[in-house]
Amino acid sequence: MVYGMSSRKLTIRYTGFRPCPNCEGRGDDGAAWRPVPCKRCEGRGRLVTDVEVEDSVWGKLPRTTYDFNAGGEVFLLDFDEDEEIEVIRPEEPWDRRGPS
Ligand SMILES: [Zn+2]
Repeated sequence: MVYGMSSRKLTIRYTGFRPCPNCEGRGDDGAAWRPVPCKRCEGRGRLVTDVEVEDSVWGKLPRTTYDFNAGGEVFLLDFDEDEEIEVIRPEEPWDRRGPS
């Protein structure tokens, strides 16, 4: 047992994306006048398909210990609620496209 792990940190990285099928990657409904942001991807145009979680205590967490949704929210499956964990999410906007 290790005591005093009050500064445990989880660092989340998005490692896989796919174009949003609802808006076909546009991020909105494509209207010429005042396009409405896509509800499914929240205007990002991309959905998260793969996530990497690095624990400051245990290292990279196995995929079976967490779950995530397409919007990039990560949920620990075996999480002790008494433990303070600082979650470090990717900087917003994480969907910024690099130069192509
Ligand atoms: Zn979309």
